[in-house]
Amino acid sequence: MLQRDTIFATSSTPGGWRAILRLSGPDAWTLALRQTAAPATPPHPGQIHSTRLAHTGLPATLLQMKAPRSFTGEDVAELHLPGSPAVLKSIHQQILAAGGRQALPGEFSARAFFNGRFDLTRAEGIAATIAAENDLQLRAAAQLRSGALHQWTAATADMLANLLALVEAGIDFSDEEGVSFISPAEFLRQIEAIMLRINTLIASAQRWERIDALPTVALVGMPNVGKSSLINALTGTARAIVSPVAGTTRDALLAVMPVAGSPGIRLVDTAGWEQGGGELAGKMKAAHDRARDEADLILWVSAMDQPQWVAPPRRGNDLWVMNKADLAQPGQKLPDGTDVFTSTRTGEGIEALRTLIVQKITSATMIGAEYFTINQRHRRLLEAAEESLQRARDNAGESMGQFPELLATDLRQALDSIGQISGTIAPDEILGRIFGAFCIGK
Ligand code: GDP
Repeated sequence: MLQRDTIFATSSTPGGWRAILRLSGPDAWTLALRQTAAPATPPHPGQIHSTRLAHTGLPATLLQMKAPRSFTGEDVAELHLPGSPAVLKSIHQQILAAGGRQALPGEFSARAFFNGRFDLTRAEGIAATIAAENDLQLRAAAQLRSGALHQWTAATADMLANLLALVEAGIDFSDEEGVSFISPAEFLRQIEAIMLRINTLIASAQRWERIDALPTVALVGMPNVGKSSLINALTGTARAIVSPVAGTTRDALLAVMPVAGSPGIRLVDTAGWEQGGGELAGKMKAAHDRARDEADLILWVSAMDQPQWVAPPRRGNDLWVMNKADLAQPGQKLPDGTDVFTSTRTGEGIEALRTLIVQKITSATMIGAEYFTINQRHRRLLEAAEESLQRARDNAGESMGQFPELLATDLRQALDSIGQISGTIAPDEILGRIFGAFCIGK
């Protein structure tokens, strides 16, 4: 997007009694003034000036805002005029002829972003406000616009940048014996604090995409571990189809688990993931990722008679359920980290699982002081940062002294991901997508 030209657009709803024509860029004032009968004294920036349109003599109001104290950070002019389509069309043509350019959707906001007037999360908040269809969405959008997520990212990026600086200082002085800027223990303490911060946000934030729907729990696991049976047991219905033949559940099955005092919780069986090639752990991870987009909570289901247990790829807020407790061999050990042991045959653990689900869902969608709503873009970036930090932490043990470059690379990647949330580092394609979703004139 060129920023040196002057853009204009009608930023009011078509067909209204009054229309607003907005211009931004170096010639915004000149182009707007040309549309009005010449004022006796040049209007003062920030003041409302009552005037008349040059060609029709119709009454109009002119507002001028001087860079950088305007919405876009550039010189901005607004003409408030009668909403006649004929008048607007003729003014549009004259501004075009005088060198103005019709603004692209979202271009005013994009300029504001590029001029540092606000960050990407606030831009998303503006778009979300315009698109909001109910009170909850409006409230979540207001929270994004308030810059709360931006402040969170800035503080997190700060912590990361400090840690990176200490590691990099160590690299610069690596030739000098005994010079160390951060001890391995202190490194671990700091990196874990940052990871906890990110993980808490991922686990506790409300999903933008799901703001309006029932809370959803997705069951992920190998075929035949008893996912459908668990859905039946938890919902008290026989809606999910149970089959003794592995891999026969093809369509996503869903049922609603009744919860006293609430509309209930949706349970979805993410079936069909087992189709296609690839090694098991990779497929399980992909199924987990897909479920993450849809669900507030994931039940990672394994069974006692399964030849191989695969631990959930990311613990976060998920629950690991070990089903078919009735088939346990005497003395058979459970893998570390399982949350609940169930049997749909005997009913063991079903009530405990139901209670755990309600607890987790309540805390995952709770509206509290630290309440955030994050969209898919935010969540992917948070998870990418978390993965980079995990790598750094895992490598830190032995390589802290030997390979600080590796740690620095991982930290830098995490910093990049966090930076992209606010748009300090944002690929063009992402910017295009965000601002392209705006309406013209915004
Ligand atoms: P899914 O493919 O994961 O949805 O598994 P299903 O719910 O279709 O169950 C597969 C098979 O395991 C069926 O024959 C079920 O009756 C059986 N099954 C489910 N839960 C249990 C359990 O707790 N104990 C035992 N022994 N069998 C179970």
